[in-house]
Amino acid sequence: MARINENFQKLPGSYLFSEVGKRRRAFIDAHPDADVISLGIGDVTLPLTPSAIEALHRGTDEMSRPETFRGYGPEQGYAFLREAIAKADFGERGVRIDPDEIFIGDGAKSDTGNIGDIFDLDNKVAVCDPVYPVYVDTNAMAGRAGNYDPSTGRWDGLIYIPGTAENGFVPGIRDIPVGSTPDIIYLCFPNNPTGTVAGKEELKEWVDYAISNRAVILFDAAYEAYITDPLIPHSIYEIPGADECAIEFRSFSKNAGFTGLRCSYTVIPKRLKVGGTSLNSLWNRRHSTKFNGTPYIVQLAAASVYTPEGKAETRGLVEYYLENAKIIREGLKEAGFGVWGGVNSPYIWLKTPGGMSSWDFFDYMLNSLSIVGTPGSGFGPSGEGYFRLTGFGSRENTLRAVERIKKL
Ligand code: PLP
Repeated sequence: MARINENFQKLPGSYLFSEVGKRRRAFIDAHPDADVISLGIGDVTLPLTPSAIEALHRGTDEMSRPETFRGYGPEQGYAFLREAIAKADFGERGVRIDPDEIFIGDGAKSDTGNIGDIFDLDNKVAVCDPVYPVYVDTNAMAGRAGNYDPSTGRWDGLIYIPGTAENGFVPGIRDIPVGSTPDIIYLCFPNNPTGTVAGKEELKEWVDYAISNRAVILFDAAYEAYITDPLIPHSIYEIPGADECAIEFRSFSKNAGFTGLRCSYTVIPKRLKVGGTSLNSLWNRRHSTKFNGTPYIVQLAAASVYTPEGKAETRGLVEYYLENAKIIREGLKEAGFGVWGGVNSPYIWLKTPGGMSSWDFFDYMLNSLSIVGTPGSGFGPSGEGYFRLTGFGSRENTLRAVERIKKL
């Protein structure tokens, strides 16, 4: 008799975005003339760059001719892309990463979600709270999170490291709950949802902790392109020793607008070993068994990001969203809100006024201003009392939304 993976039964419904959509639809049904602006989206809105479009056309033409047609490619990704990444994203920052330490994927969501395959179920997993929900749900699916308690919003098998106003939403090792020692630690900087970044000192503490506790850091740098402060590391490998204890995830979604095209990469240094076994070899085995490679034309488009024109165009996209984030951040500050993020990140994290709950503030923003954001409590218990806005909208809508907020 077939049996299902019972862990899936333990998952709460994907409450956050479905509830946001439900309340938004109900509002529009009741107020059909309302001019609703969404600053809640985590998806990009600008089209692909001319360089990426040219690469896609070129790749499509190659696919149309027998002499340049390509079928299955290397599962790890084409050398032209892995080499471009190694040189531009790491070499030019003084970090040595070899192309065969880079695995091209179809998104940081799948990469961060699938990496758990190579780790034993008995590992103790730590996440920062609030958190990008994929780390939590994929560990729950694997059976590594224990049971979910709806009254606390927590899984009893996970270690939650709280991000709070006190630690500036940059959780550090001092915030690990007393008596817990994680084996696997998910870190995400620049952070979704709080928009905060970790400096060299903060990352060094994590790396030193991981080395001394023989833990592995899973470092999600999907928003790396948004770092503008020259003192903030773009990669965990800028910290000495990180190549012995950390895996890094990057994405072309938020820098080059590939959310619909799909391309990402995972870095697993060959020096990273667990119990004497190379994680690079394990992931290579897993990746080549379960994944047949990112489409050739998509990899060509990803490689276009590293050409001089592509770099400038990609920078233009990021700067557009960063300017939106700045407009939101400054508007909120002017309106008297406590605000984090929005400088090295497209995300702005704000304290709800007057001690309102995240969902009460969501309703208030929707009903009084026709603005949709994302309740912080949807990202974990420590997000209660906070709210996320994003710079991914159009400039026009961003400016209009901020004017409404200022008139509150
Ligand atoms: N990691 C974080 C922190 C994200 O916020 C997102 C998307 O919103 C992803 C990963 C997924 O990115 P991708 O489009 O590459 O799957």
